[in-house]
Amino acid sequence: MESLAERLKAFSIDEKQIADILKNKKICESIEKVLNLSGINSADKKRGNLLYGIATKITPSIEEFRQTLTKYVVEDKIANQNHLDYTISYIDTAIKKEGSIATEVLEKNCGIGVNMTDAQISQKIKEYLTSKKEVLEKIRYTLSISDYLKALREIVPFAEGKLLSTEFKVQLEAIIGPETEQDKQMKADLLKKKAKEESNKHKKVETAATEQEVEEPKKKLGDIFNARDLASSRNTPELIKQRNEQFGDVILTRFPPEPNGYLHIGHAKSINFNFGIASEYNGQCYLRFDDTNPEKENMEYINSIKDNVKWLGRTPFKTTYSSDNFEILYQCAIKLIKKGFAFVCHQNKEESRKFREQGIPSPYRDRPVEENLRIFEEMRLGLWDEGAAVLRAKIDYKSPNTTLRDPAIYRIRYVSHPHAGSKWCIYPLYDYTHPICDSLEGITYSLCTLEFEIRRELYYWYLEKLDMYRPYVWEFSRLNVSNTVLSKRKLQALVFGNHVKGWDDPRLLTIQGMRRRGYTPEGINAFCDLVSVTRNGNENVIGFQLLEHCIRKDLDNTTKRTMAVIDPVKVTITNLPDTYEQVLEAPDFPTQVERGSHKISFTNSVYVEREDTQLKDHKDFFGLAPGKVVGLKYAGVVKCIDVKAKDGVVTEVVAEFIKDDPPKPKTYLNWVSAKEAFDCEVRIYNSLFTEDPTSSDKEFLELLNPNSLVFKSGAKINKNIIPELQHLSRFQFERQGYFAIDFDSDITKKTFVWNKIVGLSDTGKQKALQRVAQA
Ligand code: ATP
Ligand code: MG
Repeated sequence: MESLAERLKAFSIDEKQIADILKNKKICESIEKVLNLSGINSADKKRGNLLYGIATKITPSIEEFRQTLTKYVVEDKIANQNHLDYTISYIDTAIKKEGSIATEVLEKNCGIGVNMTDAQISQKIKEYLTSKKEVLEKIRYTLSISDYLKALREIVPFAEGKLLSTEFKVQLEAIIGPETEQDKQMKADLLKKKAKEESNKHKKVETAATEQEVEEPKKKLGDIFNARDLASSRNTPELIKQRNEQFGDVILTRFPPEPNGYLHIGHAKSINFNFGIASEYNGQCYLRFDDTNPEKENMEYINSIKDNVKWLGRTPFKTTYSSDNFEILYQCAIKLIKKGFAFVCHQNKEESRKFREQGIPSPYRDRPVEENLRIFEEMRLGLWDEGAAVLRAKIDYKSPNTTLRDPAIYRIRYVSHPHAGSKWCIYPLYDYTHPICDSLEGITYSLCTLEFEIRRELYYWYLEKLDMYRPYVWEFSRLNVSNTVLSKRKLQALVFGNHVKGWDDPRLLTIQGMRRRGYTPEGINAFCDLVSVTRNGNENVIGFQLLEHCIRKDLDNTTKRTMAVIDPVKVTITNLPDTYEQVLEAPDFPTQVERGSHKISFTNSVYVEREDTQLKDHKDFFGLAPGKVVGLKYAGVVKCIDVKAKDGVVTEVVAEFIKDDPPKPKTYLNWVSAKEAFDCEVRIYNSLFTEDPTSSDKEFLELLNPNSLVFKSGAKINKNIIPELQHLSRFQFERQGYFAIDFDSDITKKTFVWNKIVGLSDTGKQKALQRVAQA
């Protein structure tokens, strides 16, 4: 007797597919039956696959039609998968409803034997589209392709999907002509309009939420969101009572990162929102690691996330792990199986994706509860290969909300888990885990970003079927910042592609990058506060300048001033002796002199900024040029006598100090005396991108700015500040901006590297100048 593998080969089934089939006893039995019934020994690929299709798709309730279906395929009365699927689903429905079905009725309603040729199908499509010509000419390529395809499906129900969609395109083009640039514009406009409507809708909700909460905390929180519209989202009084007995009648929120990467400023917004709401209403916020994906997660990420949350000034109520609930999640899955709400499926990923897309039930959907329980247990015990069995929820295989089309709950992975160790080889999926963990932790408000909105129904489905307490789900918009990228995928591309120096590169808006650059948690939180209540018309892309503004505002009040020169030129003051030294008091905060001062020495040789010198004077230039009278901040006024240069580059300035009755200069320059100057390196950061990636059509990696990092060696700081310098120490360099000591500095060896945090705002610069001028 020939082996099954050999037989399948004769029916032109792929080697790989054969290997998959052989792994599964049920399918083997089923296909063997079909082959026996077919009465043939070989077939071409198309027919072979149709017979295989019968074996996988037939359900126990229509077993008696196995022979009939096989016959139709062998006689070429069913000639494509689509026709087969249609027929199976027709029989299935009819049997469930009527209990039986007459052959003539079946054949008539399923078009058995009346196979249309491709040309006939194409003709039908043409006829239909021609009947819609008038509308089509008006709306052109903004038409909803899926609506048209759906309508055509009714007309040619058995046509193969691929043929249908290609013919649709060909015939459409024949009627309204090919898609033009103008059409593309029309489509883009429509999309933009829709996106805007959507985002306005969300924004209204979001602002309403934030504004109203402030006035009337408890009652209003939550009612605003239509989560309550879902019957499945309602808690019974008993559930509320149980929840409150366990957790008290307090607000609980959670920040639920997946430990598969480093946090960025978008996460800071989520942290700010979750912890902020909780503390505002005397509640608490958990830090929960949503760790269901062992392959992608690790301890390094877990630790860095903990650090980041702490650095942002937050103390979690508790730090928890979804994986701590693996046992409960497993028991819940068994509960679902027992209630007939979950089944084990052996379709491979590709197949199940296809079925879900087409709204077709899995062939395993209706297997008995006992069998599901047994195989699920076998899965847990490691008796099935990865990918050979998946536990799926039994919800609605053709729901318009595709997340409800019998989604996966558990999959097999033979890897150990960074937190749970090696106890498990089946892991629950995020969509299933999240609501259960929220409920178990007594979360009252489950705040998440808008891309989860579509999953809200699924979230409540699990909790309803498990009869568990249901938190309010709120979605808020994702934060994007102009001129930069935030998603983990893009950040990874930048880091692993060596376009930046690591996750903490100061050009990135990762929490680590911002920290290293010198941004403060207070500044970042102020920014988060501001954006969550801002109605920003720009689809929640917030300007980088707003972030810089918040950082600057915080630093202005917390950062001491000092004078430094980044690109130095020496000034020799000829009318002061070499021994001259005047000790000056410079205020730490010029607008709040009561906060203290520091001493600096003025001598006959000082450094000034190169951009404050010029070979020839000009009326719009206020720095040092021959003949010009200029102030040196805190020290007095000098007159420039001569500017020396080599190859057009200024090498030295010669000046005289005006001791008596100096005129009022237009500008006071920052300077450092040669006696107190100390060399260090300064790193200046420009935008990572030459064009804003949040609005550009180009791929973000094509937009990288080659000059995003500028090194300046030989900058001069005043050595008096050295005792105060540590990693991350911050100063305002007067007239320049804010700077922080980078981790590349060696404090004990006194090699210092500064990062420019942010420049002074133009108005800030102006004001500083005015103040000095008035002084
Ligand atoms: P990304 O897509 O940027 O890689 P993520 O959504 O995969 O991030 P998670 O670890 O799943 O990252 O996110 C944890 C929490 O932070 C979630 O509640 C998520 O909604 C929220 N969050 C992530 N990115 C943003 C953002 N840009 N703006 C606001 N909240 C965000
Ligand atoms: Mg995520």
